[in-house]
Amino acid sequence: MDMKSAAADFMKGFPVAPKFVADAMLGKLAKWLRVMGYDTIYRSRYRTGQIQSLVGEGRILLTRDTRSAREDERAVLIRSDHVGEQLRQLKEEACISEDHARWFARCTICNEPLVEAPVEAARENVPEYVFFEHPAGIRFCPSCRRFFWSGSHRQRMVAQLEAWGF
Ligand SMILES: [Zn+2]
Repeated sequence: MDMKSAAADFMKGFPVAPKFVADAMLGKLAKWLRVMGYDTIYRSRYRTGQIQSLVGEGRILLTRDTRSAREDERAVLIRSDHVGEQLRQLKEEACISEDHARWFARCTICNEPLVEAPVEAARENVPEYVFFEHPAGIRFCPSCRRFFWSGSHRQRMVAQLEAWGF
């Protein structure tokens, strides 16, 4: 194999992805960005100055508020109330890609990257049929300790993302 394409393939697995902070009106968008693997902070309430300090750490603000968008030139003013259209806007503005390799790598509740679940922990914490169908594919969130695997719930999310054009 030619070195250049090997390097390109290797890099594809570790792209420098943008990090986001979603304002209080964008909870659903934040959840779906996490499904797609994007590091996205979301709170239903933020302390005064908290969003600005997250933006200062290099996060891109996603907001439904025109005034917040005016005050921060890097912010993305989200135009639609519909989460599918919100995701499409981010794709059109090249903030996110269609890289399926990064999907389902992050906890949708806590935003933590998932880690591979130790076999014993997986055996004790997921339904038996899941454990035997996916002995190596069970991951968990180190923060909330939920377990994740490729099942019907995930298939429904994939179908939804595909319906939105991803
Ligand atoms: Zn979690």
